[in-house]
Amino acid sequence: TTINGFNTTTTVAPPLPHVVIVPLLAQGHTIPMIDMARLLAERGVRVTFITTAVNASRITPIIDRVHESHLPINFIELPFPASEAGLPEGCENFDLVPSKELFKNFFDALFLLRHPLEQHLKDLVPRPTCMINDMCNPWTADVAKALNIRRLVFHGPSCIFIFCCHALQKHNIYEKVTDDTEEVLVPDLPINVLISIMHAPGWFNPTDFKQLRDEILNAEETADGVVMNTFDEIEPMFVEAYKKVVGKDVWTVGPLCLYDRDLSTRIVRGNKAAVDEDRMLNWLDSMDERSVLYVSFGTLAKMKVGQIFEIGAGLEASGVPFIWVIKGVEKSVEVVEWLEGFEERMGLRSLVIKGWAPQAVILSHRAVGGFISHCGWNSTLEAVSSAVPMITWPHFADQFLNERLVVEYLRIGINIGVKKPVFYLGEDEIPVMRDDVERAVRSLMGDGEEAEERRVRARELKEKAMKAMEEGGSSYENITRLIDYIKQQPPCKDVQGTEF
Ligand code: UDP
Repeated sequence: TTINGFNTTTTVAPPLPHVVIVPLLAQGHTIPMIDMARLLAERGVRVTFITTAVNASRITPIIDRVHESHLPINFIELPFPASEAGLPEGCENFDLVPSKELFKNFFDALFLLRHPLEQHLKDLVPRPTCMINDMCNPWTADVAKALNIRRLVFHGPSCIFIFCCHALQKHNIYEKVTDDTEEVLVPDLPINVLISIMHAPGWFNPTDFKQLRDEILNAEETADGVVMNTFDEIEPMFVEAYKKVVGKDVWTVGPLCLYDRDLSTRIVRGNKAAVDEDRMLNWLDSMDERSVLYVSFGTLAKMKVGQIFEIGAGLEASGVPFIWVIKGVEKSVEVVEWLEGFEERMGLRSLVIKGWAPQAVILSHRAVGGFISHCGWNSTLEAVSSAVPMITWPHFADQFLNERLVVEYLRIGINIGVKKPVFYLGEDEIPVMRDDVERAVRSLMGDGEEAEERRVRARELKEKAMKAMEEGGSSYENITRLIDYIKQQPPCKDVQGTEF
């Protein structure tokens, strides 16, 4: 009906579909899930993002920006039961766990979040329609069941890792193989791929974490679908193979790191930077294009003192300018003393960041031309998204298979030569010597033909990554399909079947 030219028909906008996101409280998992939350919210989905006080305080500027821009994301801080699980107060993220003996306690604390989360969601208005939970949070399966809503798992690691572990599990290869270093043929692939169990260990070690491992596998088995931070063009064979074997919807939605292009929020991605941002950017601006090497090993890999000295000596001998990240936990008295002389000798050739580095900003600066990386999947995607070739130095989990992808399939990196995960090394064993570092750096950063070809391939892959996230691209369209799926789900109901 039209009166005086005005349309008088009242149209009530349908409520936004409402997703609850429960990340694993580890930087490599939380960072991409926050990107995903922002991306979904920008495309018309209401998000309830579960976090804790310490984790929220690390990214206050991002949360403030979300509120300022009226994105429909609600950050819920659940009290974290650290002391109940035998952890020090404030130990609310994996990178704050003081020793690996306490990892189990950290998972115990996460499991204790089950009832508070369920209680919170039962009282939540508007009602959620779906959950997207990190694969490593299997306890959320019971919450979704209690609320009677769909549950999707989110995979932080690469698909090459997820698929290979899935295939080895499905064919009982973990049980059959007694030697972790023996190479086995990965089933269900169109070509022959040989890997050793130590490079595809699956979810946590089966001796100490058997129950958790079983629960994780069960939660994947019973999930309604899978969301992955990868894109089809980077690992097509593994994405295809995984889709075939998993038997449920798989949405590849990455690289999620390409979501945030705003310097002011990218600089605090994950945590407050331990470097003056202007000083760092001025230093980078003063450098030639693609001349700087970035050296960082993610949030969990911890270097021994002797290894730090070897890296330093190798970087020094290479003659290349670099940014090197030394984590807070690596700053022993010995290292701090040694760094004084080292930094003095390096002068303006180096920038050593002691603590949290604004990695995504560094990698995307035009001056950065190489990355020594532990091959965490986020670091790999961030390098790919900035066309930065890599020197691969895997430590554990999915990192060895990510190295394989980078070096063998994508050919945008060279390996530094480590063969075994860190758990297999002796107490005083130092796997990488200064000459290895120097050789790899000279080769990656040099102007030889192979180095140049590597750069060309890296640029081509970056183009593919950008395209995947743009309208019409594979990940963009998968996100559209994921949102359609979420929209089709009814809001949660209570046990009597009435909506609460
Ligand atoms: N990161 C960062 N600054 C640091 C260390 C890490 O911004 O000083 C970010 C990095 O950019 C990536 C994540 O933390 O997004 C680490 O995830 P990844 O999967 O690479 O490794 P993990 O820490 O899980 O081993």
